[in-house]
Amino acid sequence: MDTAPPETLTRPKIVTGEDYINSLRGRNLTVYLFGELVEEPVDHPMIRPSINALAETYDLAVREPELASTISPFTGERISRFLHVCASTDDLVLQNKMQRKLGQLTGTCFQRCVGMDALNTLHSVTFEMDEKHGTPYHERFKAFITRMHRHNYVIGGAMTDVKGDRSLPPHQQADPDLFVHVTRRTDAGLYLTGAKAHQTGCINSHWMIIMPTMRLGEHDRDYAIVGAVPVDAEGLTYIYGRQSCDTRSMEGGSIDVGNARFSGQEAMVILEDVFIPWKNVFMDGEVDFASMLVERFTTYHRRSYVCKSGVGDVLIGAAAAMADFNGIPKASHIKDKLVEMTHLNETIYATGIAASHQGHATKSGAYICDDMLANVCKHHVTKMPYEIGRIAQDLAGGMVATMPSEKELNHPRIGALLKKYLKGKADVPTEDRMRMLRLIENMTLGRNAVGYLTESLHGAGSPQAQRIQIARQMQLEYKKRLAMVLAGIEIEADPEAVADELGGYFARVFKLPDE
Ligand SMILES: Cc1cc2nc3c(=O)[nH]c(=O)nc-3n(C[C@H](O)[C@H](O)[C@H](O)COP(=O)(O)OP(=O)(O)OC[C@H]3O[C@@H](n4cnc5c(N)ncnc54)[C@H](O)[C@@H]3O)c2cc1C
Ligand code: SF4
Repeated sequence: MDTAPPETLTRPKIVTGEDYINSLRGRNLTVYLFGELVEEPVDHPMIRPSINALAETYDLAVREPELASTISPFTGERISRFLHVCASTDDLVLQNKMQRKLGQLTGTCFQRCVGMDALNTLHSVTFEMDEKHGTPYHERFKAFITRMHRHNYVIGGAMTDVKGDRSLPPHQQADPDLFVHVTRRTDAGLYLTGAKAHQTGCINSHWMIIMPTMRLGEHDRDYAIVGAVPVDAEGLTYIYGRQSCDTRSMEGGSIDVGNARFSGQEAMVILEDVFIPWKNVFMDGEVDFASMLVERFTTYHRRSYVCKSGVGDVLIGAAAAMADFNGIPKASHIKDKLVEMTHLNETIYATGIAASHQGHATKSGAYICDDMLANVCKHHVTKMPYEIGRIAQDLAGGMVATMPSEKELNHPRIGALLKKYLKGKADVPTEDRMRMLRLIENMTLGRNAVGYLTESLHGAGSPQAQRIQIARQMQLEYKKRLAMVLAGIEIEADPEAVADELGGYFARVFKLPDE
């Protein structure tokens, strides 16, 4: 990959978590929460834990640079791994290892992978668009990445439209704004209107990449748009997404929140005539590339859900600690349930990391992971965290859902009663037992269940989306032939069909290391 021309650095480069938090101040974003404008999101007690989770991605890069950072081929400087375009399968694998580690450190969604996967996708898709249509997108895109690398910014990925009637394409919707679209073009750039739903970490990002959400037809040209906007661009309004038990972070105290330091963040983003200069437009009307873009993005992103194995490590640890606190760590069914949780959790990790190891180069030189295995990983993720969560609640006991509040624990009369009657094993402080119960509640019913459960179900596409991708690649004719041969059934050897059957997924499975 070659380098784009340098641009002037107008803002300092972000290195530490603290630099990052400071970089978010004073941006004057239009953020609504509880019907009011938020003056400074950084200082809002309900928003701050989500900012802390992102700050941890910078601090990890300082503590473990080999894991969470790399040298930019565009600037020659050290940058976050979240901004890197993969140039090998090792790069893909390292993304997964970093994601598992950050899941372990935060116990939640650290919000940076959608942008990472969008960057990787666009590197190859802009290259192939230019090859077919003679467009200038790839050079523009490399110049954009270079600017992002110079500052070490956070990028959000805005794909999911609000979509209205799910049975209709964008141009047939009763309201044309239900999918983000171009409203006008000028010599300077284009203007967008519409809304994106469920945008992870958008308020905590510096830039956002707008992308189409589905394959598009001839009549949807104005919806085939990819462009980058700064999060503080004029015309952007953010409506904060509520999370279960979110207002606990506004009550003071550190027990009832379950995880006082970290949370995820999603918001709805409304675009009202948002301007994007041509230099930041990377697709405009190329409907024939919308499905390639969505499929490549989901291929990267579905194996990024390895993050859940890191979060799962925390939940397994919490369940095991509860068994200790309750005095029953040696009971055989407890050990067996911890084994089951670990088996499920490692299944997620195994399929994700395998998708990365079985990656390959695209025409632009960017590496992409294996489509089939990425979909299998994400499909596991739609189910296994729910089962891991169920077992964690089993081991926690019913107190996970009926425990009195932290204020009672600190009450002059009730506190002593709680310390006496919520005691487990004699040498474990009651407060520790309460904290662990609240963490399990947080991850399976509270704020971080959004990231661990519902995001696992719908993020990067609902379960059916993975089944469609798996069905497309399952090569049944090839498998039927294998069975027929062994069953002794005579079949005609059609060389073309055999060659076809050995393409696709199995070509990747049987590819030898030096091919
Ligand atoms: C916590 C969280 C974080 C997310 N973060 C991001 C993000 O950062 N960026 C981003 O772009 N997106 C993000 N998403 C969005 C995610 O990709 C979508 O939720 C997902 O694609 C499903 O879309 P939907 O929510 O509109 O559900 P719907 O599309 O309404 O799906 C509901 C059900 O209807 C089915 N269905 C939908 N359409 C059809 C159809 N045409 N025919 C038959 N069945 C259909 C689905 O399979 C599903 O079972 C996030 C989602 C969550 C929950
Ligand atoms: S859900 Fe996981 S993959 Fe998606 S942004 Fe959050 S941490 Fe990253």
